[in-house]
Amino acid sequence: MEFENMQKTSVCTYCGVGCEIDAKVTDGKIEKILPVKEGKSSGGELCIKGKYGFDFLNERIDTHLVSYEFIEKNKDKFPFELSIRLANLYEYDEKFYRSPYSLALDLAAWKIKEILNEYTPNHIACIGGARTSIESAWLFQHFARNILKTPNVDNCARICHSPSLSGLKMSIGEGASSVEFDELFKADVIFIIGSNTTQAHPMVASRIIKAKRRGAKVIVADVREIPIMKFADISVILPFESNLLFLNAIAREMIEKDLINKDFIESRCVKYDEYKENIIKHPDSKEYFEKLRGFEHIRGQIEEIANLISKNKTIFAWGLGVTEHIDGTEAVNAISNLAMLSGNFGEGCGVLPLRGQNNVQGACDVGCLPYYGPDYTIPEKIGLMTPDVMDHLIDGRIKAIINMGEDILHVHPNLNKIKKAFENLEFLMVMEVMRNEITEKADIVFGVKSAYEKTGVYVNAERRLHLSTPLVECDMPDDWEILAEISKRLGSELEFKTSEDVFESCKKEVERFKGATYERLRKKSLCWPVRVDGSDSPVLHTESFSTPDGKGHFHYHPYHLRGEVKDLLENKRRWYLNTGRELPQYNNAAQTKPSGKLTKKYGEDILLVNEIHKNEISEFVKLRSKYGESNVLKVKFTKTVRPFTLYTTFHFAKSNINALFGDEHDHKVKTARFKSVEVEVINADNN
Ligand code: SF4
Repeated sequence: MEFENMQKTSVCTYCGVGCEIDAKVTDGKIEKILPVKEGKSSGGELCIKGKYGFDFLNERIDTHLVSYEFIEKNKDKFPFELSIRLANLYEYDEKFYRSPYSLALDLAAWKIKEILNEYTPNHIACIGGARTSIESAWLFQHFARNILKTPNVDNCARICHSPSLSGLKMSIGEGASSVEFDELFKADVIFIIGSNTTQAHPMVASRIIKAKRRGAKVIVADVREIPIMKFADISVILPFESNLLFLNAIAREMIEKDLINKDFIESRCVKYDEYKENIIKHPDSKEYFEKLRGFEHIRGQIEEIANLISKNKTIFAWGLGVTEHIDGTEAVNAISNLAMLSGNFGEGCGVLPLRGQNNVQGACDVGCLPYYGPDYTIPEKIGLMTPDVMDHLIDGRIKAIINMGEDILHVHPNLNKIKKAFENLEFLMVMEVMRNEITEKADIVFGVKSAYEKTGVYVNAERRLHLSTPLVECDMPDDWEILAEISKRLGSELEFKTSEDVFESCKKEVERFKGATYERLRKKSLCWPVRVDGSDSPVLHTESFSTPDGKGHFHYHPYHLRGEVKDLLENKRRWYLNTGRELPQYNNAAQTKPSGKLTKKYGEDILLVNEIHKNEISEFVKLRSKYGESNVLKVKFTKTVRPFTLYTTFHFAKSNINALFGDEHDHKVKTARFKSVEVEVINADNN
């Protein structure tokens, strides 16, 4: 079929909503991104990032690159037939040669073989992002486990929603949303915690605002005043790192006041008695907040919230404000406990983790995790989580990283440590759309198709599979094609001619995608599990849960006193920093900063400081923690953050914000504690 006559509908990759997009294309270039009116995820609209975030296509990597350093380091080792082809490398810039595709593939395969011969498969780690398709994500883990035979495969969920997977899995057996986004219109109450929804998931926020106008009650809890609070019936401003304390206090209130759904608990859940005993005997109660100066009123809010959720159909939504803590898994589990206590699973009620990238759910579903294979099966060998890969780089037990679209040197924590660890790498191969911090350290960079240029399936935060087709043509390979080509060179034939072939192979291992075919997905998007007859599942857990016994499992987790809460009890004042995202930019901003319209709205990381500090804090400051120092940041004085608490974004590498965070992470799945770090504020000049 002629490209011009093909169906052209893609998905926006800039958040877990994964909105359907269309485009006006002139002379092979996108002129305008348009919403798809019938879009199930977008609701027929797009936010500014979705509309304007396409200018990067003019600056994308349009070739394959091999570093001078790689050639220099290996020049005496290349086999003859490879060394004579080095004449086909042409100087590109100060770091890289431009390489023909086949030569870059041969060089990468040769180096991987050398690492495998000299060391073991366990010396290689594969770390991927989740903006790429299901096909590439599935093949990535297949490449790691079955071609390289390393168990070390991970994806960017490590730094965002891994605690949602672990917390929900232990409770209801499925680490995913129980409802599609449109169920928000059926809920009586929407309880949002740790999600700056208007900025991070705009088209979900737009549904919440519409639902509010139609009569739903909205509860929002966060550590600072965020825009969605304008629409809230109850806004709770919490101390830093107190989510679990707050959630357990609501549970205690419900149990003590008999505000629980006994029938639901008896028929659908187990381990309630043990949970109840722990909740009552531990001090995580509403009275706790009375001891925290400035937070005494939360006691009353807890009573109101307990009442509302126990009597109404409630959807519990959360974001990284819950997961990026040392007790992220426990807090997710505590949210699930509240949903079970109130019997809130079914139509118009349930749990809705607002996941970050548009395919982070999918990357986990297909097994890009060190402890789960495709369909959450337990792999033969458990691999390393990304923070452990960094430690193993330092002690020499990792020698090579194959990276698929994850800018570890910018968006991960403890940048000073990671940058040092990367000095020990013998080989770094990167597949990327844009130059960024990690491409600059790579030995070989493969330019790849962006989501607007390829065919593939994506699974968003409501478990919805979308088939995305190219809006424009591009002659770069897809990630999966590179992996298949390297596999061939390593002696394993992977006979995939099209992305559909890859998807069909993936489906043999992923039961929840079983009934999804390209043909069906061309007609409409589908929420997994998709049954063989093509019917799908917008709402889960209506009759039973996905645990082996079909029951919801209560788990109690005690709150551990720390950080700002401890300071408040001890009457101390120290500065704490919280970080997040602003609507116009996406993650490391590599794809969004080329768009003038977006960068005009938010073009640098701004530090929010409460206005009572105007006399002591200058207009430009640096932050320092025990792990590192930021670069100079511009200050904006505001009332939206509390005294001694700070907020900024990490979009721009030059700010070096993630150097401030260390190795403290979620107890279970090592998601970094990006939402709280103690810092010093140092007044600085703007130079
Ligand atoms: Fe939709 Fe999110 Fe893209 Fe905005 S950023 S258009 S809400 S997917």
